[in-house]
Amino acid sequence: MLEKTGIPTKEDIAGVTPSAERRGRGPVAVIECYQRIPCNPCYTSCRFGAIKEFEDINDRPELDFDKCTGCGQCIVNCPGLSIFIIDESYSDKEALVKMPYEFLPLPKEGSFVTALNREGAPVCRAKVVKVQNAKYQDRTPVVILAVPKEYSMEVRFFNEEDYYSDNTYVCRCEELTMGELRELIRMGYRTVDEIKRISRAGMGPCQGRTCRQLIMQELAKATGQEMKDMPMTTFRPPVKTIKLGALLGGGKDE
Ligand code: SF4
Ligand code: SF4
Repeated sequence: MLEKTGIPTKEDIAGVTPSAERRGRGPVAVIECYQRIPCNPCYTSCRFGAIKEFEDINDRPELDFDKCTGCGQCIVNCPGLSIFIIDESYSDKEALVKMPYEFLPLPKEGSFVTALNREGAPVCRAKVVKVQNAKYQDRTPVVILAVPKEYSMEVRFFNEEDYYSDNTYVCRCEELTMGELRELIRMGYRTVDEIKRISRAGMGPCQGRTCRQLIMQELAKATGQEMKDMPMTTFRPPVKTIKLGALLGGGKDE
């Protein structure tokens, strides 16, 4: 598979994946170098001794996840652009994925992009949190994306187009599209509550479980605010669909 398509198999990926516990503890490298090649700058650049000494220059790197600090030094020294840093301790919902990116123009910090998987397929929307080494012509730039935590081991590239077109439904219950949401933001609606009151987004049967996050992302993108600083709507019970009997009887809804 890898030789023909350049895409690693699930077994290949499993062999280089830190445990969920280690990923949640802080930044850690994921070295996606799957073939024996005569190369070792990852080993020589790691001052923490996290990469086992190569007995043969063709050896594949072996990483001690507990010794790795996630410093990222190996990323810029790897000619194969094979190393990523994953940090699932970034926030409750998001993880950071740090990746080498040798293309111009570089993305703008704070912009939103479409995160892609190893096959180049779209995975989710991601925020460009930082671009490192942007001013140097002789160093590999490193792009740091914030992605939903569940995609940290999927996202490995991005393109600068926005993941959501104007026709995408933001709120399926109340049929609000991304184009309509963008128009409301252009008109001056600036909080999730204001958007909810004018469009009813978040007031349907799902109680905003999908749209709230999307509206906040779009507001953050349009206004430059940080999502963590933005006011959220009030959550009122029931927070999910329940049977009428459970509501009337006060019993548990299985
Ligand atoms: S991220 Fe830092 S500590 Fe971890 S392997 Fe790379 S250079 Fe070593
Ligand atoms: S520097 Fe990169 S390409 Fe070379 S062996 Fe290490 S991970 Fe593989």
